[in-house]
Amino acid sequence: MTRSLLFLLVTACAGSPAPSAAPIPASASPHLSSGRWLRILATNDFHGTLEPRRDSRGVLRGGAATLAAEIERARAECPAPACATILLDGGDEFQGTPASNLAFGRPVVTLFNRLGRAAAALGNHEFDWGQDTLRARMREARYPILGANVTDAWGNDIPWIPDDTLVTAGRVRVGIIGIATVATPTTTRPSNVADLRFVDPIPVVNARAKALRARGAQAVVVVAHAGAFCGTQPVATCEGEVIDLARGITGGVDAIVSGHTHSPVATVVNGIPIVQARSHGSALGVLDVPLSGGAPVVALRDVLPGQVAPHPATDSLVRAVSEPLQAVVNRPIATLGEPLADLGLGNFMADAFRAAGTGDIGVMNRGGVRAGLDSGTVTYGELFEVAPFANMLVRLTLTGAGVRAWLETAVGQRSIVARLSGVVVTWDSTRAVGNRVVSVRMSDGRALADDGTYRFVYSDFLHAGGDGLKVTEGILRVEELGIVDIDALTEYILRATTPIRAPRDLRLVLRTP
Ligand SMILES: [Zn+2]
Repeated sequence: MTRSLLFLLVTACAGSPAPSAAPIPASASPHLSSGRWLRILATNDFHGTLEPRRDSRGVLRGGAATLAAEIERARAECPAPACATILLDGGDEFQGTPASNLAFGRPVVTLFNRLGRAAAALGNHEFDWGQDTLRARMREARYPILGANVTDAWGNDIPWIPDDTLVTAGRVRVGIIGIATVATPTTTRPSNVADLRFVDPIPVVNARAKALRARGAQAVVVVAHAGAFCGTQPVATCEGEVIDLARGITGGVDAIVSGHTHSPVATVVNGIPIVQARSHGSALGVLDVPLSGGAPVVALRDVLPGQVAPHPATDSLVRAVSEPLQAVVNRPIATLGEPLADLGLGNFMADAFRAAGTGDIGVMNRGGVRAGLDSGTVTYGELFEVAPFANMLVRLTLTGAGVRAWLETAVGQRSIVARLSGVVVTWDSTRAVGNRVVSVRMSDGRALADDGTYRFVYSDFLHAGGDGLKVTEGILRVEELGIVDIDALTEYILRATTPIRAPRDLRLVLRTP
């Protein structure tokens, strides 16, 4: 896709009245019928998913119109004045679908404005299109996007990134503090945040919670673009950045809305309930904070089209945004003979980059494979969701020693995220980092020669330090190829022999004793 197309397809959205309430189900949330409550409704990692999408088991989930209907239902269960509702988001709102990306996230702001969002956390992907674009979205949003732990290189506050907000929900004054993940510099285009620092959130939250209480907050909620993974029942132990944050809180925080890891989280740590509603609007977090004593109640509700009638005004908004793109999005590109996902798709993309840049070696990163592809017809829209970032390809001419040094970095990572093309690397995980590569064979069968020269193709995201995979040694030449990653993928898939299958060859061979 050319960059100019991105600008042509920007879609504006007209305003409409706020949604009306859905009928109240009789038995829902009986605990709300006595005492005073703050009900927090939470989403995270929406990633521009205005329309429903199928999960790995083929179940259709999410979609803004169904999500809006679930939000209305959950609001209706919380009767004023004893119960007040607030709608929050854990960050990564915009990046990921043609409908959102082609307008640089603007349709999501329109949606969130209409849903009555009170605040959102600052996700790493909020920076994907640069600070100017983020600031434009912030100006359009009627809710603040909060990042209290973001500073400049000298530890000063960033004036355009708000730290917290104090809102009134029903009769309750609610303080909200926002946190960005400390991994932001390597999980968005690093140059976009080079002037920013993402500092330890624990002291920031403790200080802000105290200050908000002093300003009259009766409840304090943290929206943190920081995630966790939880084990399975009966003992659901969770670990991750947001759990560490909760453990470090010394008081004054009533709840945390989490994000970033796309995983289900509904737990209580250090007395603080934490929720993460998977991702892509596939679930709604419902977190009830007691204001007159008692225990909090944390739950996730699936957002399943068909289980609740779509919210009409939101449905029209989604149609207005999506319909002009149908011709582009539904264009069939190829036929897959089997599903492509994860490692197979990552290797396939590394092959595509190597082909586009006529390299000896191609590299893709695991985290850049944003979706899988089903077997059968693949459309441009589906390819777009695999590679939505519009990363540009870079070709390096490297010495063989430089390639070897980079491979040591790749196999020295705690978890291997590099996907390779054009090489077979045998490595030994029991050896020290920096000395793990046992042998490297090129696609012509010859061993890597330290004094040879090789052409190495990867994305500008990695070249800028993303995922810790920047090449640092033996660089003889750097060429910006002017090729967008999705164009390389589209070209490659168009030329591939049908039906297309995942590459079967092993590229990283772990030597076992
Ligand atoms: Zn994230």
